[in-house]
Amino acid sequence: MRAQPKASHFIAGAWAEDTGGALIESVYPATGEVIAQLHEATPQILAQALETAATAQADWAACAPVERGRILQRAAALLRARNRALSELETLDTGKPMQETLVADAASGADALEYFAGFAATVTGQTIPLGRDMAYTLREPLGVCAGIGAWNYPIQIACWKAAPALAFGNAMVFKPSEMTPLSALALAEIFAEAGLPAGLFNVIQGRGGVGAALASDPRVAKLSLTGSVPTGRKVAAAAGAALKPVTMELGGKSPLIIFDDADLDNAVGAAMLANFYSSGQICSNGTRVFVHRAVKDSFLQRLDARASKIIAGDPLDEATQLGPLISEAHLARVLAYVDGAKAEGARLVCGGARLERPGAFMAPTAFADVTDTMTLAREEVFGPVMAVFDFDGEDEVIARANATEFGLAAGVFTRDIARAHRVIGRLQAGTCWINAYNLTPVEMPFGGVKASGFGRENGHAALEHYTRVKSVYLGLGDVDAPY
Ligand code: NDP
Repeated sequence: MRAQPKASHFIAGAWAEDTGGALIESVYPATGEVIAQLHEATPQILAQALETAATAQADWAACAPVERGRILQRAAALLRARNRALSELETLDTGKPMQETLVADAASGADALEYFAGFAATVTGQTIPLGRDMAYTLREPLGVCAGIGAWNYPIQIACWKAAPALAFGNAMVFKPSEMTPLSALALAEIFAEAGLPAGLFNVIQGRGGVGAALASDPRVAKLSLTGSVPTGRKVAAAAGAALKPVTMELGGKSPLIIFDDADLDNAVGAAMLANFYSSGQICSNGTRVFVHRAVKDSFLQRLDARASKIIAGDPLDEATQLGPLISEAHLARVLAYVDGAKAEGARLVCGGARLERPGAFMAPTAFADVTDTMTLAREEVFGPVMAVFDFDGEDEVIARANATEFGLAAGVFTRDIARAHRVIGRLQAGTCWINAYNLTPVEMPFGGVKASGFGRENGHAALEHYTRVKSVYLGLGDVDAPY
């Protein structure tokens, strides 16, 4: 098997195995080839990971922040130096083309490590004058944090969670999706090589049950999930029962609004990126594209012309722009949405079928004349399926854009700067773009509102989610006791 890791788990700075755990097979979605076989974490593996993390975390919290940062910098440099090998691994595990993984996965993970490496030593508390007395605050780590990842950006998700957690003095136990178990293990090896003390970043494998065990375990101080809304509800409920903080990065059905004064070629390009990059398997995708009626026909013509030129094929070939979906089962789900959209009266503009080649490939697909009540307008498809809606007025499109349970992201294309800010100000979304889409630099907080989750990853905002504030009152005079 061409991507077989040395063992299933990485705990306390070393490979760990327990063949008593159920089998997990990693499949290369472009061919169906099994590339690795691993085992789910047993309760013993889970306990080992959590206990070693707790022990390591105590010393790590006492380590100078600048030293923590130095280690994260070294890990980032190793990620960059091995970007090609890591990208190939990610391509095999996810099916995403190398053209994407070379720039968007380990590289984005390295950005996060560099950002939080620099951030670590800048964290300070406050001094609070109180007249005779004073108070101060300390920013403390939370303890052992658990990260649970989705399968679309496995190493990026692992880094986006591990970088702030570790920078601020926590330990992490990370569970990747069972669909993509490999790159988090490579990251754990890199951390060890960079000098991260053993036990601070542990990877355990498993399906939802292992994630659920992490969510309810009292040894976990905080949980960060990237996944779907149904999983988010379960994890938040388990964490709520234990009164532990959670960060929820969940799904979306985000609006991308294109006004009639927009630069149409840019808008088409953004809409394509917002629906076809990673074969549409991106949480923040702008899958509801509202196009002003005056430019709709022109938009659809340009879209069709450009979509037909997208190069699908071998993901390991750097010329390939479109890889397969994550699995045959997921492709079947996405194609069912396509059939449903046709049955509900949406007009197919391009694509709409699987590609005639081995692997879970699907043509970039767009529907026009989609109405707000259709299933395609309401449910997250998580595939390369764009839904185009017509609109006439600003108030109308804002109301329709907000008429969803989700609130992850939103985008506006217009040359009218006042309108751009006015519209963004009224959209119910956590992450927004003006004349751009889906750019997620580490400097910018990322996350959703409504059913798309809460908490933020990246940026200064991450500090709030991986530290807690301790207030210290300092009595500087005599105690004024009435008895
Ligand atoms: P899932 O919700 O199916 O799974 C997410 C993770 O949770 C996986 O590791 C999964 O394990 C685990 N899990 C499943 N059930 C439970 C449970 N009861 N308790 C704890 N953990 C559990 O999502 P997908 O992996 O299918 O990813 C796609 C979804 O992720 C989409 O909805 C997408 O929008 C969202 N997403 C959100 C992002 C964001 O930042 N907002 C970014 C990327 C994706 P296993 O896979 O083994 O079942």
